[in-house]
Amino acid sequence: MGAFYAGFIAEELPVRVRFARGGRLELAEDMEKLGCMRALVLTTRHQAGQGEQIVSALGSKCVGLFSNATMHTPVEVTQEAMEVAQKLEADCLISIGGGSTTGLGKAIAYHTDLPQIVVPTTYAGSEATSILGQTEKGVKTTLMSERVQPEVIVYDAELVVGLPAAMTVTSGLNAIAHAVEGLYARDRNRLSDTLALQGIGAFVDGLPLVVDNPSDLDAREDTLFGSWLCGTVLGQVGMSLHHKLCHVLGGSLNLPHADTHAIILPHAIAYNESAAKACLAPVAALLGSKTAGAGFYDFAMKLGAPAALKDLGVTKSQLDLVADLAVKNVYWNPRPVERDEVYALLTRAWEGAPPA
Ligand code: NAD
Repeated sequence: MGAFYAGFIAEELPVRVRFARGGRLELAEDMEKLGCMRALVLTTRHQAGQGEQIVSALGSKCVGLFSNATMHTPVEVTQEAMEVAQKLEADCLISIGGGSTTGLGKAIAYHTDLPQIVVPTTYAGSEATSILGQTEKGVKTTLMSERVQPEVIVYDAELVVGLPAAMTVTSGLNAIAHAVEGLYARDRNRLSDTLALQGIGAFVDGLPLVVDNPSDLDAREDTLFGSWLCGTVLGQVGMSLHHKLCHVLGGSLNLPHADTHAIILPHAIAYNESAAKACLAPVAALLGSKTAGAGFYDFAMKLGAPAALKDLGVTKSQLDLVADLAVKNVYWNPRPVERDEVYALLTRAWEGAPPA
């Protein structure tokens, strides 16, 4: 697979993106632009305190706080939150949190078309896509709709200062994964490639700095910028084997999202490197490595990322099921997805070994 492309269409939905330290306390300005007067704030239980801060900053422009956003966006929680939004006559949603909270806001917007303001506190990048993943009776499904694309994103570096070091690293690798797979996507284009390489570069430079000094606001802002770029790539082009494996592992074994991405990334990229060498060469160069797969493994290990699926509680016997599911309904991939090869990849990821 070469790095050549000729002609492309870029379609972007109108989104207001604001980078501002302390921006979470000035959301009335964003509401005004949307013509909204009654915000419902969404958080997880864990981040209810951050939600309260926004509630008090908004005063009469806020009608309430719903602090039960839950991982994997269960439809029952969406239903409960929609009833609250309706009862309080909310005219917009403010989601402050990671991908799970953003997911709840998107799910409500999908049914109600309420405008969303998202204030991200991780690097997952969901705020930059019109993709919604949700779970019903234990089955996770994904849809794409313009209705779920948030209208406003406010990146406030002060909020990610408190993101624990371990999550900082895994969430950063999660963001990088969107951009790297974007580089060999069938529908990639000059714009998505540019965003992807800038996004990966922002994390390669910025993650070591924020791990060393979590309060480095400049580096936090740079990594948030990277997460916007990487999330935008995810929203623009198709994903491949890496995302398929993470969806299967997350869906069938209920593994933590960002940790799974961090462990699989070097292996999935190494798997595809022979078929997409030209596309991945600039990434290897950014990492100062001969190959992108080995470069990501070394980068992740230096940052203290988890390396082994067995450390997430996966048993070796479960790898058979994962390999079987991974070769069903495969996402387009630059290299054919062979069951035995995928099993070998998973075995190395399970052990925590470097990629093949
Ligand atoms: P998360 O939102 O599930 O957060 C994990 C935990 O960390 C939560 O308890 C949360 O409250 C807490 N947390 C978040 N930010 C924090 C901070 N700054 N300080 C302290 N604690 C904090 O984690 P995530 O990795 O951001 O999101 C994962 C979910 O997002 C998955 O369900 C995934 O499928 C989804 N996702 C969707 C898209 C999309 O485009 N639809 C893209 C990426 C991820």
